[in-house]
Amino acid sequence: MIIKPKVRGFICTNAHPAGCAASVAEQIDYVRQQGDLGEGPKNVLVIGCSTGYGLASRITSAFGYGAKTLGVCFEKEPSERKTATAGWYNTAAFHQQAAEAGLYAETLNGDAFSDEMKQQVIEKIKQDLGTVDLVIYSLASPRRTDPKTGVTYKSTLKPVGQSYTTKTYDTDKDLVHDVTLEPANDDEILNTIKVMGGEDWELWMDALVEAGVVAEGCKTTAYTYIGKALTWPIYGQATIGKAKEDLDRAAASINGKYSSLLVDAHVSSLKALVTQASSAIPVMPLYISLIYKVMKEEGTHEGCIEQIFGLFNGCLYGDAPTLDEKNRYRMDGKETNDATQAKIQALWDQVTQDTFHELSDYAGYNHEFLKLFGFDIDSVDYEQDVDPLVGW
Ligand code: NAD
Repeated sequence: MIIKPKVRGFICTNAHPAGCAASVAEQIDYVRQQGDLGEGPKNVLVIGCSTGYGLASRITSAFGYGAKTLGVCFEKEPSERKTATAGWYNTAAFHQQAAEAGLYAETLNGDAFSDEMKQQVIEKIKQDLGTVDLVIYSLASPRRTDPKTGVTYKSTLKPVGQSYTTKTYDTDKDLVHDVTLEPANDDEILNTIKVMGGEDWELWMDALVEAGVVAEGCKTTAYTYIGKALTWPIYGQATIGKAKEDLDRAAASINGKYSSLLVDAHVSSLKALVTQASSAIPVMPLYISLIYKVMKEEGTHEGCIEQIFGLFNGCLYGDAPTLDEKNRYRMDGKETNDATQAKIQALWDQVTQDTFHELSDYAGYNHEFLKLFGFDIDSVDYEQDVDPLVGW
């Protein structure tokens, strides 16, 4: 099959196996180049392991610290006529490289919100690992079915309290325009908290502890984005921000409940970057195109793997972690500091349809977007016939 990108709005509906493998290999190389990292995790569970920040966490655990990794993801397998999702191919590439390096890797593909998946994971840990000493919670999903009630909740990306008019960039039409986002009602806020809040993270930790598969001193972290004034109306203080606040509650609850096991739970705040999840959020493509421009000029630009390597090395397994007043690890300082934000705000104020490509790094954004699906990578020959039926 000759595979070329099929972009529909903010998503690409196919993926390239060789391109995904190349981008996984690039992240592995980055981690390997960091040298001896010292003490770190040994048996790691990554919930949301196949793309974005979760994949980078798995790569850092395995190739940085030599850890055994058990991953959970929700990806579509390939058929003769249709490619798999990018996360499927990333996972296949990860498994291949792990096998070559003699590293244990297992992945369970299915709904992480379900009780069934939690039970499958527990069985796998009992069978292969005994216990886990690090649990990464990196899910990004538009919906969640509550395993206790069977009710399906859907998240919304809306402001809270009042409507909000702002600039946005339509990647399909190459158009900068104003958009007015109507405020969410109470039901939409509650639904979003049900999907992206801390309830499921806590259910995971409850199930793992109850099954006796959590090692003493186990660390766990869930990822958040906090951002600054420019994104607060649509993120930090919006429906998704309300859900993310619930992660702070969950972290405190996990720490309280499992203090006798010395479980150490933190929310980790990471920088904004292009992933399948962030490209779906209104305003984010414009904001990220501008921060790429500013941060590349400042020499502070980082992708998923640099951020996660920094989190592990500096916070999770470092001597002097950057913590904020809510006990969160902060890895977003290079984006959210006042000087950088002032430069981004100045560009934001100036940007129009005519100046967008000059003032922003949309080329960089678009390259990273295509790369998520294994496209636009120099080392890959996209004219080559490839077999989409890749697995692990
Ligand atoms: P992503 O879309 O790249 O990854 C999501 C992962 O979740 C994938 O592995 C996917 O397979 C898995 N997943 C989704 N639904 C699932 C389900 N029902 N069962 C099992 N697996 C499922 O997203 P990302 O951007 O890496 O986001 C991960 C976390 O990081 C999120 O909590 C997000 O809010 C946070 N974060 C993202 C950014 C950003 O800019 N992208 C910034 C800071 C924090």
